[in-house]
Amino acid sequence: MKYLSTRNIKLQEGFIDILFQGLSKDGGLFLPNTWPLIDINILRDKSYEEVAFNIIKPFVGSEISQDELYKIIENSYKDFTHQEVAPLVKIDSNKYILELFYGPTLAFKDYAMQFLGNIFLHLMQNKNKKITILGATSGDTGSAAIEAFKGKENINVFILHPHKRVSQVQRKQMTTVLDKNIFNVAIEGDFDDCQKIVKDLFLDEATQNKTSFIAINSINWARLMAQVVYYFWGYLQLNEKKVSFIVPSGNFGNIFSAHVAQKMGLPVDQLHVVTNQNDILNQIISSGQMILKNVKQTYSPSMDIQISSNFERQIFESVNGDDKVVKKIMNAFKNNKKYVFEKEIITKFQNIYHSKSVSNDTTLDTIRKFKKNYNYLADPHTATGLSVIDSISPNHPFITLACAHPAKFGDAVEKAIGEIPSYPKELKNIFDKEEKMTILPNNSELVKTHILNNI
Ligand SMILES: *Cc1c(COP(=O)(O)O)cnc(C)c1O
Repeated sequence: MKYLSTRNIKLQEGFIDILFQGLSKDGGLFLPNTWPLIDINILRDKSYEEVAFNIIKPFVGSEISQDELYKIIENSYKDFTHQEVAPLVKIDSNKYILELFYGPTLAFKDYAMQFLGNIFLHLMQNKNKKITILGATSGDTGSAAIEAFKGKENINVFILHPHKRVSQVQRKQMTTVLDKNIFNVAIEGDFDDCQKIVKDLFLDEATQNKTSFIAINSINWARLMAQVVYYFWGYLQLNEKKVSFIVPSGNFGNIFSAHVAQKMGLPVDQLHVVTNQNDILNQIISSGQMILKNVKQTYSPSMDIQISSNFERQIFESVNGDDKVVKKIMNAFKNNKKYVFEKEIITKFQNIYHSKSVSNDTTLDTIRKFKKNYNYLADPHTATGLSVIDSISPNHPFITLACAHPAKFGDAVEKAIGEIPSYPKELKNIFDKEEKMTILPNNSELVKTHILNNI
């Protein structure tokens, strides 16, 4: 298996190379040059780990031995607190919720990040190499990465989060980890600003020469690959011909993983992208307008994103893999903060995705409604998806993803139902713990200096 860049299809990189690079030097994102087909029948009655092994194996190829890969996967999910790792809950006829909050930080990010942590540990064994993990977070990626890498030798972790724009639990989950190799930076800006600083530093050769930066955002292909697994898993829990998914979205990583599953042979009927009021994805899919607006703060902060990095992967596919066209579109968007897709391309997006933007009010109403009607307590991100499933009468199974545990977003839940959700054991005591973080202005140079002074 070789990998190309969305901005240079001549690249022929191996899995380990693209794992360490994260972002291609030309600014593009890596994609495999073919989609492996999976025989679903061999996955029936297998454990989550076995399903994961079969999905991930073709992407890794021979670069890691099969025994080692299986061990990495086993280690990644052994501490998840639900026996099925990602249980499927039926709420009504043909309506299901796939719960993805049984990892250490109670959001779906753990499903890929634990795997990423273990694969890096494996590859760094016996190597005298130091790496610097650098990531931007809208709230959940950061804590998942910190849990996956804390206390690890030869690995420093710098996580940028938008100052005062993550929930209190999200911040505490990051800043109360006091290991020496963990550095939390609160940027005076929004998530898009954090993500831009990360991209600037990755493309800064002088800095890259001083340390090897590793990207752990969903621009890193290995994250998307590990997320493909639970779409197959969700389908396998049912005994049906086809399935549709509803995915609360921000950076377009999770929903793109669903599309990859479809490419690999999963019989997916519909894919629904759901955004909050930061609706650039909904605008692109419904009208072809990719127009940059300011990020609004909502009750679902992990989706408070306007520049959805992974959408470049979809653009690449929809322009038939023409890297020059991708480059042209991305440059136009960068320079003009706006790009309008041609009709033909919009149709291609619409052939794959349905989309909807959900307001703050609807989000809270939906939390209330599902508690009342189904005794199901959803977090505000999950609720955006639930509002879509609630509005349809499906004739085949629809699965909506539960992206995080409601206790991570206690304030929003309290606003909806008048009570704070009970805290699982992972979050007990978190409010009394000491915090460590550095607040910096929205400026790549200052962040660069901070990193170089601390490694
Ligand atoms: C990251 C996240 C999202 C958005 O997922 P993307 O892959 O960025 O589209 C939605 N909900 C929660 C709880 C998240 O942590």
